[in-house]
Amino acid sequence: MKYFNPQQIREQEGKLAVNGGVPIREKGLPPEWPGLNYFDDQEKQAVMSILDNKSPFRFYGPKVQGMCDSLEREFALKSSSKYALAVNSGSVALYTCLAALEVGPGDEVLVPGYLWTSCFNAIIKLGAIPRLVDIDASFCMSPEDLEHKITPHSKAVMYVHMSGASGNIEEIAEVARKHNLKLLEDCAQSTGTKVKGKSIGTFGDMGIFSFQINKNMTAGDGGMIITGSKHLYNRAFAIHDLGYARDDKGRLMDTSCASEYQLWGSGGRMSELTGAVALVQLRKLDRITTSMRNAKWEIRRAIEEKIPGIKFREVIDPDGDSGAFMLTVYPSREKARNFTEAIRAEGIRGEGQSAPCLDMQQWGLHWYYNNLSLVNKRSLTPYGAPWSLEANSFAENYTYVKGTLPVTDDLSERGALLSIPSALSSADIDDIIRAFYKVAAWIL
Ligand SMILES: *Cc1c(COP(=O)(O)O)cnc(C)c1O
Repeated sequence: MKYFNPQQIREQEGKLAVNGGVPIREKGLPPEWPGLNYFDDQEKQAVMSILDNKSPFRFYGPKVQGMCDSLEREFALKSSSKYALAVNSGSVALYTCLAALEVGPGDEVLVPGYLWTSCFNAIIKLGAIPRLVDIDASFCMSPEDLEHKITPHSKAVMYVHMSGASGNIEEIAEVARKHNLKLLEDCAQSTGTKVKGKSIGTFGDMGIFSFQINKNMTAGDGGMIITGSKHLYNRAFAIHDLGYARDDKGRLMDTSCASEYQLWGSGGRMSELTGAVALVQLRKLDRITTSMRNAKWEIRRAIEEKIPGIKFREVIDPDGDSGAFMLTVYPSREKARNFTEAIRAEGIRGEGQSAPCLDMQQWGLHWYYNNLSLVNKRSLTPYGAPWSLEANSFAENYTYVKGTLPVTDDLSERGALLSIPSALSSADIDDIIRAFYKVAAWIL
């Protein structure tokens, strides 16, 4: 289809499936879990080598296979960062990094309104206060609003590279430097993303990644921390483990650990079973992201500028986009909902539990105001920490209800998302484009 002619399309395609017409396709899309589409014998062999050698623990055992070591080495190399530390989840990675950066009571951490609930968890569990910052057209933190939100209590910025791509991270790093704030990058949703050739996670002090099933590479669970600082790495190491360093035999240095690395641990070590799968997946990461990126931009370019009612997320560097998601913005909340529902009815949906096509109102804990523990300032104990801590009295009037961040609120109502499966055929891609044209011809 060369150009968009609504009347012609309505005649050609007939009624929308949602209104009783014939759907563009009967079958759902391939599953959107990016790494799973690439599971094969290699993951199996790697896991078997751990079982055969009876060495599931990374630090010692009968015949340690060094999967976690290799994973860290290759991850650091690939992202051009000095140090990498494997952990058992992205959430533990966030907690470990904030703790390594010495975030605690009396501090606030600046976070965007579009994120994942793990970001709040890490801050709250350390006794610190989250301070909300609005997003911009990139669906990531706005550098301008960040400047407005900084207070004397601001200690760190948690920048979240959302939905497979980055936003204005260079400007954010600039603002953080200028105000002497620590910068932690949450890259959980965007492993493999670059901005102008530079890997995300290397713009600030530390970066974290997740290998949970929805992420670009997966071992079911798992995560990674990267940093350019030996000191932060050493702190993170002790904190992710049992609070102490280990010697070169993998034994805890319980009596000989340097006093600055005698800390408190969080039980975040990675198992060799996880390391084995993650290592194989890391070596496939470029294939996975290339497939998603090519598909996404073929779809996006076929729609952009031809259908004036659909706007797209601003992507600063399309060549560095991991391609995992295509975010669209519609003229109103009703249009976003109706459009997405109609697209699904045309067969642009998943099978089983796969749900690649949603309007943003269905995107749950990704929006700050849907985190009820936050909105209601919940605590793990009756004492009410961190909210009730004397050191945090500065935050008494902070609120997290909807209405706090105008741009985030607006995009959460008018936005929609399509996960880009990593195994789309060209026929699938054509169907998706055709469905957007058909639905746009009727609805926009
Ligand atoms: C998935 C995710 C995490 C947490 O990762 P887990 O491995 O599930 O703990 C953190 N931040 C963001 C933005 C995420 O999407």
